[in-house]
Amino acid sequence: MSETENFSTLRAQMIEQQLIAREITDPLVLKAMSEIPREIFVPKAIRKDAYEDCALPIELGQTISQPYVVALMLQSLALRSSDKVLEIGTGSGYEAAILGKMARNVYSIELEPELNQAAADRLKALKINNVSLRVGDGYKGWPEQAPFEAIVVSAAPSEIPRELVAQLKVGGRLILPFGEEDQELVLIEKTESGLESEELGGVRFVPMRKSVE
Ligand code: SAH
Repeated sequence: MSETENFSTLRAQMIEQQLIAREITDPLVLKAMSEIPREIFVPKAIRKDAYEDCALPIELGQTISQPYVVALMLQSLALRSSDKVLEIGTGSGYEAAILGKMARNVYSIELEPELNQAAADRLKALKINNVSLRVGDGYKGWPEQAPFEAIVVSAAPSEIPRELVAQLKVGGRLILPFGEEDQELVLIEKTESGLESEELGGVRFVPMRKSVE
């Protein structure tokens, strides 16, 4: 079997065993995750592990999230294909690529220029051109493109970033891992009468860093 065929078999198994078996049902999530080759987003030396049921190390001490956690976060946003979405923490670009398949326009911010560049190269190679990347501080969001129907934060802050809540549309949803040692996935919905939040279980993400400007 060629390497490419091998990876598509592993990808199909990942969809069945790690996602569908755990109640990921959103057709947009399942379709996007079955189209994006996760193996190109992980360092070459661990490419063979790309479809393992866990987070993996990427450059600069950061991580690419476990496939199930990516699916859970994106499913909780209840996206529509007409949505404009903001991601904080581009990292490898994997989640940004999936969002690119699910939504109309995606904006993603990364603190580290080196990770931003590698992610940009991968998105270009995949011909995904509805995802815009920027190097910057995620706490500030992307005001020029606000408001967003959905925001996904892929690094854990120890307080809810106020600017991000401000850049959410009424009716919009924000998902983030919250806390330091014991993190929880928190889904926040902005309604006419204020914010509603729901906890979706324990997770472990790298910290969302304060930039030193
Ligand atoms: N979504 C990524 C995983 C991101 S890991 C993927 O699919 O691969 C979290 C990323 O958040 C890291 O790359 C880290 O550098 C970045 N990060 C941490 N603090 C940040 C901040 N304040 N603003 C923007 N990015 C930040």
